[in-house]
Amino acid sequence: MSPTENAPRIVLLPGDGVGPEIAAAARSLLAELGDFQLDEHLIGGASIDEHGSALHDDVLEECRSADAVLLCAVGGPKWDTTDPDEPRPEQGLLGLRKGLGLYANLRPVRPIPALVDASPLRPERIEGTDLLVVRELTGGIYFGESGREGDRAHDDCAYTVAEVDRIARTGFESARRRAEGGGRRPKVTSVDKANVLETSRLWREVVGDVAGDYSDVELEHLLVDNAAMQLVSRPAEFDVIVTENLFGDILSDESAMLTGSLGMLPSASLGEGGPGLFEPVHGSAPDIAGQGIANPLATLLSVAMMLRHGLDRPGDADRIDSAVDRVLEHGLRTADLAGGEGTREVGTEEMTRAVIEAL
Ligand code: NAD
Repeated sequence: MSPTENAPRIVLLPGDGVGPEIAAAARSLLAELGDFQLDEHLIGGASIDEHGSALHDDVLEECRSADAVLLCAVGGPKWDTTDPDEPRPEQGLLGLRKGLGLYANLRPVRPIPALVDASPLRPERIEGTDLLVVRELTGGIYFGESGREGDRAHDDCAYTVAEVDRIARTGFESARRRAEGGGRRPKVTSVDKANVLETSRLWREVVGDVAGDYSDVELEHLLVDNAAMQLVSRPAEFDVIVTENLFGDILSDESAMLTGSLGMLPSASLGEGGPGLFEPVHGSAPDIAGQGIANPLATLLSVAMMLRHGLDRPGDADRIDSAVDRVLEHGLRTADLAGGEGTREVGTEEMTRAVIEAL
């Protein structure tokens, strides 16, 4: 059936490696859920091969005018280079983040009951964990001046009040949204290194000011070294973690391991007003590309995040989340997930079909 005129327009960017395989899973799921206009374009290595750059200007324009962008993965050994003049696949991703003004990266971490054995932590330690890492994405050390003079290199870290203010608000708003429906008091843990860094002292000050507008949300401040420790010793105590770009990069990967599998983790990147970018956390997995064994669940859960945060369809998002839970409870596993008694190994297509049937 062709989409209707008012159908939300989604730009789908399959990218490289397992990207096209998991894009097919997303396409099937969206077809089942109903009325969407899907436009597909190249990004990453595939775009370098065709256009000589990882993100063509026309594709960025298409993304800007869409309601949401769903990206699968970019990169692979074919395009690995240390020559600064050669295009690299990840420039496509960075170009999208910048071009769409995406300053907030959201990564939920919710260990799935059926996969509790896949976590490197003991089950009793991760029990009850349900947290969200909100990472600032367009400021800090990754975007500061950098350079080399002789035997010295430097990377500058800077933040403005406005940059901290808006990401703090994303954190508080997310905590409020997660608490809707009751059950828990919303809490924000702001992570910094205020005992050493001036940017962190500014961060702590501004987050404290923003908290004044959210008296219903509890605020705690943690130093990043302590936060890294607490994440593995008492993960269930966290609700929303809000932090700057570099700390967020590291802590979100650490939190990711609580679930035990990269193939399970979705993410959302949001900006002001324009479309959000939704993508699995994992890369293009070139070692298993083309074999039909990639885990599609991180991508299907990214579709759920897109429906929840980008297209205002929280009901459909919940349906996907619980369909994924049910399929895993029934014992289906892709090769990357721990197998064992009562489980059956399936490929990308069968896993996708099972989720669609369980909707
Ligand atoms: P990776 O995430 O691609 O793979 C790490 C390991 O996890 C591999 O063993 C892989 O087979 C496995 N894995 C990842 N996704 C899986 C899935 N859906 N199902 C089953 N197994 C899965 O990370 P890497 O190997 O460090 O990087 C490979 C390429 O991906 C590199 O070119 C890197 O630059 C790129 N990369 C892209 C992104 C992105 O597009 N957002 C993120 C990270 C890495």
